[in-house]
Amino acid sequence: MDAHHQGGCLCGAVRFTASEKPDVVVGCHCSQCRRQTGLYYASADVAASAVTITGEESVRWYQSSEKVRRGFCSHCGSALFWQRIGGQKISIMAGAFDQPSGLVFGYHIFCADKGDFYEISGGLPQHPQ
Ligand SMILES: [Zn+2]
Ligand SMILES: [Zn+2]
Repeated sequence: MDAHHQGGCLCGAVRFTASEKPDVVVGCHCSQCRRQTGLYYASADVAASAVTITGEESVRWYQSSEKVRRGFCSHCGSALFWQRIGGQKISIMAGAFDQPSGLVFGYHIFCADKGDFYEISGGLPQHPQ
């Protein structure tokens, strides 16, 4: 098992393993992600079929829009997952991966909606939507 692709929530009730390498980390600065995280959502896509979740009974899903649900730990509140309902992929919060994560930050999206109290640094591509 590749330790680079495992992680979990703050309290440890929910753990996950990705059996394939996650995609690049995407930072979403939309208003929903801002409110959920207090800053922005940084997550990496993995094929849903490659993800095993233990402690799944502790995951609560909040449907944040018609087509999207967000999973979090019902004990400690850690945001963990973002998924298009019925989608083939699941986005996993980058910060939930055990270190060293092996993850690479790719780009930022919904930058036009970002909070007005910070700047996006790092020189990576920034997409307004
Ligand atoms: Zn937890
Ligand atoms: Zn977002």
